[in-house]
Amino acid sequence: MREPSPPLASRAHRAPKRYLYAWGDGHADGDGSMRDLLGGKGAGLAEMTKAGLCVPPGFTITTEACNDYFANGERLPVGLLDDVTAAIGALERKSDKRFGSPENPLLVSVRSGAKLSMPGMMDTVLNLGLNDATLQGLVALTNDERFGWDAYRRFIQMFGRIVLGVPGERFDEALEAAKHRAGARQDVELDAAALRSLVADYRAIVRAETGREFPSDPVVQLELAIVAVFKSWFGQRACDYRKFHKIPDDLGTAVNVVAMVFGNRGDDSGTGVAFTRCPNTGGNALYGEYLTNAQGEDVVAGIRTAPKIAELESAMPEVYAELVRIAGRLERHYRDVQDIEFTIERGRLYMLQTRAAKRTAAAAVRIAVDLANEGIITREEAVQRVTPAQIEQLLRDQFDEKARAAAPRLAKGLNASPGAAVGRAVFTADDAVEWTERGERVVLVRVETSPDDFHGMAVAEAIFTARGGATSHAAVVARQIGKPCVAGCAELVVDASAKRARSIETGLEIGEGDWLSVDGSSGEAFVGEVPTVSARFEDQPALHTLLSWADEMRRLEIWTNADKPEEATQARIYGAQGIGLCRTEHMFREGDRLPIVRRTILAAPLAMRARAARAAGQAPTREESIACWTFNAALAELEKLQQSDFEGLFDAMDGLPVVIRLLDPPLHEFLPNLEEQLTKVVRAEALDEANDADTKLLAAIRSLHEQNPMLGLRGCRLGLMVPDFVKMQTRAVLNAAIAVRRAGGRPIAKIMIPLVGHVNELDRTRALLEAEARDVERRAGMSVEYSFGTMIEVPRGALTADEIARSADFFSFGTNDLTQMTFGYCRDAAERGFLLKYVEEKVLPANPFQTLDDAVVDLMRVAVSKGRATKPSLQLGICGEHGGDPESIGKCEQLGLDYVSCSPFRVPVARLAAAQAALANRAGAPPTRLLRSLRIIRAAAQRSP
Ligand code: ADP
Ligand code: MG
Ligand code: MG
Repeated sequence: MREPSPPLASRAHRAPKRYLYAWGDGHADGDGSMRDLLGGKGAGLAEMTKAGLCVPPGFTITTEACNDYFANGERLPVGLLDDVTAAIGALERKSDKRFGSPENPLLVSVRSGAKLSMPGMMDTVLNLGLNDATLQGLVALTNDERFGWDAYRRFIQMFGRIVLGVPGERFDEALEAAKHRAGARQDVELDAAALRSLVADYRAIVRAETGREFPSDPVVQLELAIVAVFKSWFGQRACDYRKFHKIPDDLGTAVNVVAMVFGNRGDDSGTGVAFTRCPNTGGNALYGEYLTNAQGEDVVAGIRTAPKIAELESAMPEVYAELVRIAGRLERHYRDVQDIEFTIERGRLYMLQTRAAKRTAAAAVRIAVDLANEGIITREEAVQRVTPAQIEQLLRDQFDEKARAAAPRLAKGLNASPGAAVGRAVFTADDAVEWTERGERVVLVRVETSPDDFHGMAVAEAIFTARGGATSHAAVVARQIGKPCVAGCAELVVDASAKRARSIETGLEIGEGDWLSVDGSSGEAFVGEVPTVSARFEDQPALHTLLSWADEMRRLEIWTNADKPEEATQARIYGAQGIGLCRTEHMFREGDRLPIVRRTILAAPLAMRARAARAAGQAPTREESIACWTFNAALAELEKLQQSDFEGLFDAMDGLPVVIRLLDPPLHEFLPNLEEQLTKVVRAEALDEANDADTKLLAAIRSLHEQNPMLGLRGCRLGLMVPDFVKMQTRAVLNAAIAVRRAGGRPIAKIMIPLVGHVNELDRTRALLEAEARDVERRAGMSVEYSFGTMIEVPRGALTADEIARSADFFSFGTNDLTQMTFGYCRDAAERGFLLKYVEEKVLPANPFQTLDDAVVDLMRVAVSKGRATKPSLQLGICGEHGGDPESIGKCEQLGLDYVSCSPFRVPVARLAAAQAALANRAGAPPTRLLRSLRIIRAAAQRSP
């Protein structure tokens, strides 16, 4: 049992506020939860002390003191130094040494420490309190003259550089000269006499550089060091870092004053840094470096090449064993892998810092799984510790680390879509297509991309743009199609017409065909071919375990959007539980089918006239009869192709539901562009070379032309006006299902009617198609499992979901269209025109095409409750791109949908996100990550002995 410390507020202090929190002898005023006030380092030292670990005593001056220092016009708060004096007094008692005493001197380190670890803050000063007199005490006490002088020269060097601002090279030069004089290769080879004369050199340097003597009074040294830490909060480097990472300026830094322990007292001493597990792989073994007879940051500074921590095992087996024991204790205490710093003084191990270890995505997964298996955290916590972005990263290729480090970096931009890819530079989308058709791999380099570039993006290995942020077209599309992307690379000057790009930072340049390696995870692009290592899902056992746990926790099923059997198979490997959207029109565009589709479309008007004539009891004209024949023949050809498409999907998804959406886009999308065709015909006419086919095609394009095609003849409207396509598709679906069943498979067909806004549209379409389906079954003499449903993607459809549900077996929210129509945006125009600016300038909180907007969610909620009121068994899912977005998945969980459907490569991400959403929902209000980690730390603090 530990004695309770006196209540915090009642500690005596002279300053108007309580600025100091001390620790030592197993007690601490603060604890691990007080990072705001004590900084990460101070909170960690207090917490470790409370946990009973061996930590040298010390005290923290709070971040509040730092803020008050600046509020006071850079003056220390009144009374602060008195409180420091009192705290030093307490430290003297705990350490049984005296600050400034020539007989038994107390030395301290002065260490900065903000709430978040942050480069640019002041470096640590060690051995503070040394002067000519206290040095004698240190030497007498340790009976080690060399050690004393070594500590002294280190102090003058550090204090001179860090506090007094003397250029570090001055000291380095003097050290090199001393080594040269002594014929020494390493610092440790310098003897007491050499170090003593080095001290004299250092002091001369300080005198020359500052015009003053090195301060010898320990109290003055301490005051100067404290002020220097505060000042470093607004140093250039710290300010730049905060600005870049959007860290507020008013957090302030704390100052930690810690009694020194010495790693440089001979071969039974040393200093080291370690991770309690490997931060790269997550492997459960101490990972780090260690130096014998060394102090402070010698290890990280690379003064000597530090051996692996494992060597400590042979050098000092007991100490190593203790370190392993402590690592385990810290992990159990903090319930996470730690990054620790320690010093060994004459065989005794002291802990000097601990913090949660930064780790790679692979390590994050392995560690979460291992900690749960070891009983340190629960499986639920393990699932919550890994972010969806980390899962995504694990499924992307990566560059070989060594090769990457050696590669010449062309430029750095925004890491817009993760993964690594290599290809040859091309500068237009058309070139991208042309090069890939020749069998080349390409990287598309653009100033920025627009929807016109999509065909190039789709074939490129990666996308690299000079402009645009994280929600730019390039970034959004790249993430959707799973390609690495570096966007917004301001240093890149792209000259698309000259097909060259150059970095104004590095001066490097690339031209068309040059090899380029793009790392979308780091935002870098390299010149040349950097080898990649692929991350196969099948080869990641820890990831499988974690996701299988996630599967047990989630309520939402994860389906996939897949148009081809290969995609479906991949999605199934990733864990998909069905197909939520098969876009049949994608099949229409495949390979050599487009000409057949065009033939049907061109023949359609006359064929329809023929049909009307026959219905009216008249004979169609010869031309109409021919058109009719062409139309039917082409449609029959399409039907055969579609049936084999569907058979492939049913096979790949055997036993799982497959939602097939009937033809959705307006027909003109399958014809050439109006302007292009017009130019072609006009030009041909001018040369008197006009041909009939082109003129007819132009006429057809014109007749199908609409001002707002997305709001025109498409979806179920087209199906009602020209039923032949959807009837054909229904027959193909049923015949495919029958064929697969005959072959012993278990197809589950779900036919989805798009764009329904009024229940009558659905009723009539369904009646039409059901008749067709029954007809197929009757002919085959066999029945199969199929149902009819609709997409909810028109606001009127959502608002009248109670009526629509009467005729639908399932709803699938088409949130791309629903978002367009709720906002009244055309997505392409919006993303090209203003959406990026809107998000940047916070007109909108996020891109609504990426993350479900709350108003869209409201419409969905109406549809869910009205739909279920009519038909409790109604199956509800989402098939818009939002189905793969973790935040949107959270909203779908709250809406109580049955499944989300996303692109195959997002399925694993969605499995995790759905579990996290279910856990957050179970816990009541969804806690933010920050609150959650605070809660964990607090819980750990309460559990600690
Ligand atoms: P950083 O924030 O850069 O990690 P630290 O304040 O942790 O800086 O100090 C760096 C190193 O200095 C520590 O890892 C430790 O080796 C050494 N150090 C700091 N304080 C002491 C001390 N009181 N006794 C011995 N070594 C210390
Ligand atoms: Mg440092
Ligand atoms: Mg440190």
